[in-house]
Amino acid sequence: MKYISTRGNAPELSFAEAMLTGLARDGGLYVPKKIPTMAQDDIAALAGLSYEEIAFRVMKPFVGDCFTDEEFQGIIARAYEGFRHAARAPLVQLAPNHYLLELFHGPTLAFKDFAMQLIGQLFQFELGRRNERVTIVGATSGDTGSAAIEAFRGLDNVDVFILYPDGRTSDIQRKQMTTPDDANVHALALDGDFDECQARLKDMFNDFEFRDGVKLAGVNSINWARVLAQVVYYFASAVSLGAPHRKVSFTVPTGNFGDIFAGFIAKQMGLPIEDLVIATNQNDILHRTMETGAYTKDGVKPSISPSMDIQVSSNFERALFFAYDRDGDAVAKSMEELKDGSFTISQGAMDYLRENFSSGRASEEETYATIKSEYAACQEVLCPHSAVAVKVGNENLSEVPMITLATAHPAKFPDAVEKAIKTRPALPPHMADLMEREERMCKVPNQLVLLQTLIKDRIAAR
Ligand SMILES: *Cc1c(COP(=O)(O)O)cnc(C)c1O
Repeated sequence: MKYISTRGNAPELSFAEAMLTGLARDGGLYVPKKIPTMAQDDIAALAGLSYEEIAFRVMKPFVGDCFTDEEFQGIIARAYEGFRHAARAPLVQLAPNHYLLELFHGPTLAFKDFAMQLIGQLFQFELGRRNERVTIVGATSGDTGSAAIEAFRGLDNVDVFILYPDGRTSDIQRKQMTTPDDANVHALALDGDFDECQARLKDMFNDFEFRDGVKLAGVNSINWARVLAQVVYYFASAVSLGAPHRKVSFTVPTGNFGDIFAGFIAKQMGLPIEDLVIATNQNDILHRTMETGAYTKDGVKPSISPSMDIQVSSNFERALFFAYDRDGDAVAKSMEELKDGSFTISQGAMDYLRENFSSGRASEEETYATIKSEYAACQEVLCPHSAVAVKVGNENLSEVPMITLATAHPAKFPDAVEKAIKTRPALPPHMADLMEREERMCKVPNQLVLLQTLIKDRIAAR
């Protein structure tokens, strides 16, 4: 199995190479050269299996011969053992033909754990075999940082540094980043905002001497291995509702397009998905693109579902690649135009996108109203991201069962939830003492050279 760039101008890589590389050298994103398909009988045979066994069968064709079956099974087992629900991704029913896929039972209570935990184990295994170490540096406004820290904490071959804007994350988000006490975890509270954190991260990747010296690696959402991990729960949930004998639809709260793109891959593999619905908050660039055929950047309006507050939806590039029938030049041209704020999608490519995706949006008021109405209707407490999706999912119900993805635990966004239902959602028992745990972080100035020195010193001290 080989991987190629969406911009058609980078070396073909194996799964392990694509995973360690992240962004392709031509600026594109790695996608499988050919998407493997699963026979209907093989899909039917997934019914009743453990999440880990389904994960193994669904992902195996994508990793090629990078791991033996036994190695890959071990990696998957270690990735999901820290989840607090035996089903990993349980399905609950909201209404006669509407189901909620709870993806928030991992260590940081958000769906990003599904991908990050797997990538942590994949990195550990691959680096151990190569006898290499890497330094992971990430910038976060909250959720991704804690998911990365939980995934890499305690691993021998990795140091993980997370830059977050000092004083600008929620208390829960900060505590999740600053309380793990493993020697390879470094939470850096930068004197600046999120954009400045991202800018310093970019500076580090552009400083090749530093980059090579510390073996810098990235695990942001464009990493193919993250997308792949998310394909699994589309299969697991669909099969539990009767696929492949019965079709299902999905509604997905969307920001960077990684999660819903995983659904698209599941469909390409042969999972009978009727509809994939993109749900956006008031930052509705993707919904507007589906309606107008023009992808036009607008200012970000901060919302109560902050993980979907985006202007540039990085994984949308992967969908464009397929919509343009794998024409890397057409994708590269669109991305070049985007530098000036906008690009237009051809009629043929739009037809393809509309065949595969529907879309909708939820305003802030509609999001609050949905948290409130679902609580009243079935006592399910939704986080604001999940509520955006449930609102849009409700608008797209048909005779085909709808599965809406719930991406975070409500207790991660207690203020918005409390405002909607007048009850403050509690953290699950194993995290109930989070706010009392001791914090460990390093306050850092917004200066590249000082940051680089600190990172080098910390690695040398290990
Ligand atoms: C990251 C995130 C999303 C958006 O997922 P994408 O893959 O970026 O589309 C939605 N909800 C929550 C809680 C998230 O953390």
